[in-house]
Amino acid sequence: MTIHPIVVYGEPVLHRKAEKVEAFDAELAELIEDMFETLAASNGVGLAAPQIGVGKQIFVYEADDEVAGVRRRGVFVNPILVASKIPQGRPSIEDESEGCLSVPALDFPLKRANKVTVNGVDGTGASVSLTVEGWFARIMQHEFDHLQGTLYVDRLDAKWSKKWKRAQREFGYNEPGLSWLPGTDEDPFGH
Ligand SMILES: [Zn+2]
Repeated sequence: MTIHPIVVYGEPVLHRKAEKVEAFDAELAELIEDMFETLAASNGVGLAAPQIGVGKQIFVYEADDEVAGVRRRGVFVNPILVASKIPQGRPSIEDESEGCLSVPALDFPLKRANKVTVNGVDGTGASVSLTVEGWFARIMQHEFDHLQGTLYVDRLDAKWSKKWKRAQREFGYNEPGLSWLPGTDEDPFGH
């Protein structure tokens, strides 16, 4: 297994729709194992294939689901997501701040749907389905977005978008070429 470098905002693969997986072979199984290993080394809760430079519709996740009281770990290949309505109003910094391994060292709040159902397949092509609420629903929306070429910072409201644009210039997250290696480079979120 291999820990892969995580590419940063500005890398084109992050900003286009990922391609459907067609072959459920050993290569896919190895890629998924690598993604789990890279996720663990990054101290993240979810990782989408475009974040390691692979433009395919795959994401992995591992985190506590506090609503259901269980720890969840899994993979979605070629997922579709159905979400409840996104609530109106201003996002809470305390409860609705999100971060992304491809936007190192930053976090911003945004509203997300409270409940989602994700349907897809796993690395063998077998159907998988997950219905979750609260923080875990946020993780699913964030990872699903990655496969559409959308990052959470692309969804910020006007106030937070302005702050993001400023930080983006400061950190240089507006052109291709940046990446970091989990487990080797310093953890950008201080975990
Ligand atoms: Zn992300």
